[in-house]
Amino acid sequence: MASRAKEPLLIIGGGLIGLAVAYELAKRGRCVEILSRRRSEAAGFVAAGMLAPHAEGLTGNLLKLGQLSLDRIPQWVINIEQDSGINCGLKHCGIVVPFCTPEARDAHPTATFGNNLNRQELEIEVPGIAPQWQTGLLFNQDGQIDNRRRLMRALEKACVGLGVHFQEGVEVLDVLQNEKEFKGVKVRNAEGKLQLLPAKEAVLCSGAWSKQIFKAIPIVPVKGQMLSLQGPKNALKRILFGPGTYLVPREDGLIVIGATSEKKAGFQEGLTPSGQLQLHQGITALLPAANQWPQMERWWGFRPCSPDEGPLLGSSVLKGLWLATGHHRNGVLLAGITAELLAKSICKIKLSRKENELITQFRWNRFEQK
Ligand SMILES: Cc1cc2nc3c(=O)[nH]c(=O)nc-3n(C[C@H](O)[C@H](O)[C@H](O)COP(=O)(O)OP(=O)(O)OC[C@H]3O[C@@H](n4cnc5c(N)ncnc54)[C@H](O)[C@@H]3O)c2cc1C
Repeated sequence: MASRAKEPLLIIGGGLIGLAVAYELAKRGRCVEILSRRRSEAAGFVAAGMLAPHAEGLTGNLLKLGQLSLDRIPQWVINIEQDSGINCGLKHCGIVVPFCTPEARDAHPTATFGNNLNRQELEIEVPGIAPQWQTGLLFNQDGQIDNRRRLMRALEKACVGLGVHFQEGVEVLDVLQNEKEFKGVKVRNAEGKLQLLPAKEAVLCSGAWSKQIFKAIPIVPVKGQMLSLQGPKNALKRILFGPGTYLVPREDGLIVIGATSEKKAGFQEGLTPSGQLQLHQGITALLPAANQWPQMERWWGFRPCSPDEGPLLGSSVLKGLWLATGHHRNGVLLAGITAELLAKSICKIKLSRKENELITQFRWNRFEQK
C-alpha cells in the first residue's frame, strides 16, 4: 500500500456534499483529503440552487431536516464567505407556487407554511404569469444560493485555505475492508496507475455514483436537464415553482430553468430534444414571455436518489466508513446540515436531541427495517 506521512480522513467524491463535509471537518482541525474523479460532473455544478423545503412540499423527517438546514444556512454561508472571500449569492427571495384552483393549493403538503395569493396578488408577485394560474402560495422563507457560479468555488477555496488536500482525476474503484472494518480504498489515478490508499476513516460522498463504490446502499441516478435565459433586469423577483418546471432569477438577470426528472435515463449523458422541449413547454405554461428571452446555456446532471428520496447519513455497516449521500433534489438545501451532522458525529461532538433524532431517521439501514 502507498504510505503517507499523516493518514488523512478520505472524502470520496468532491462534489457539493464532499466539499461541505471536508470544510466542516477541516474547520474542526481534521486532516482531510478529497478524492475526486471528475469535478465537472458533480450535481453541485448542475443544480438550480433552490433552498425550497416548503415549495418542494417536503413532508415528515425530510421536511424537518430541510427546515433545520434552512435555519442554519445564513450562518453557514457567512462562514464560507469569510473563509473564501467569495460571495455565495444567497438570496432570501421567496418562492411562489401557482395553482389552478384553491383546492389544489390547499392540498399542497406544506400549504400551512405559506401565504395564500389570489390572482391579483399572483400577478403582482410574478408579472406576466400565465392566465390559468388563479391562486398561489408564497413561501417567504424559501430562497436560493448561486451554487454553480459561486458556492462550489467558495467551498473549494475555503477548503484549500484550511489545508484540505485535493486529488482530482482519482477514481475510487473499491472499498478495502477487513471483516466489518474500513481499511482504505483502491484507486486509479489520472495517469491510470492503480494504488491502495490505507485509511481508518472515510466519508462516502459520491452522489449518484455511490452504489458503484459501495454496493450495500440503494442509490440510483435521476437525470435532470436544465437551461438558462437572460431576462430583462428585475423581470422576476421571486422564484416561480410550477409543476415540473421552475424559474430561478439570479441577481444579474440570468434565469435558471429546471428541470427534467428522468428516472429511466440511468447515466446516459447529454441533452435530449424531448427533455429540452419539456422545459420550453414548462416555461410557456408558467411565464410565456420568457420563451422570447435569449437562451444562454444548457446542461444536465444526475441526482442521487434513495428509495424514499431522503439522504443516507451517518455511520455505515463498516466501522470507519461514513455516509453522506442520496440527497436527490435537495442536496443544496441539505449540504450545510449534512456537513454539520457528519462532522460532529466523526469528531465525537455531542449532537443536540433534535440533531440526534434526525440523523437516526436517515440511517442507511432504514430500508431494510421496513
Ligand atoms: C438538474 C438538477 C437540479 C437540482 N436542483 C437543486 C436545487 O434547486 N436545490 C437543491 O437543494 N438541490 C438540487 N439538486 C440536487 C443537488 O444538486 C444534489 O443533491 C447534490 O449536488 C448532491 O451532491 P453530492 O456531493 O452528493 O453529489 P455530486 O455533487 O454529484 O458530487 C459527486 C462527486 O463524486 C464524484 N465521484 C463519483 N464516483 C466517484 C469515484 N468512483 N471516485 C471518485 N469520485 C467519484 C463525482 O466525480 C462527483 O464530482 C439538483 C440536482 C440536479 C441534477
